[in-house]
Amino acid sequence: MSSTRHKWGEKIRFPLKTEQQCVRCDMVKVGRREGGPAGYWDEFWRDEERIHCTATPPCDARREAVAVAAA
Ligand SMILES: [Zn+2]
Repeated sequence: MSSTRHKWGEKIRFPLKTEQQCVRCDMVKVGRREGGPAGYWDEFWRDEERIHCTATPPCDARREAVAVAAA
């Protein structure tokens, strides 16, 4: 099955953003906030690089693949 979904961890709050990391693939969802009614958006990061996308990128569950290989 390829219906893998992100499993977001605990939300970490900063003054102008929040961060949540997927425990399955290490992707980080960053919620940014600036002033104004439209001043909120999500960014997705992995390996220190921003992923440019219009929707949530798929989860590749690479951490679970590593866990299976090590078992
Ligand atoms: Zn994920």
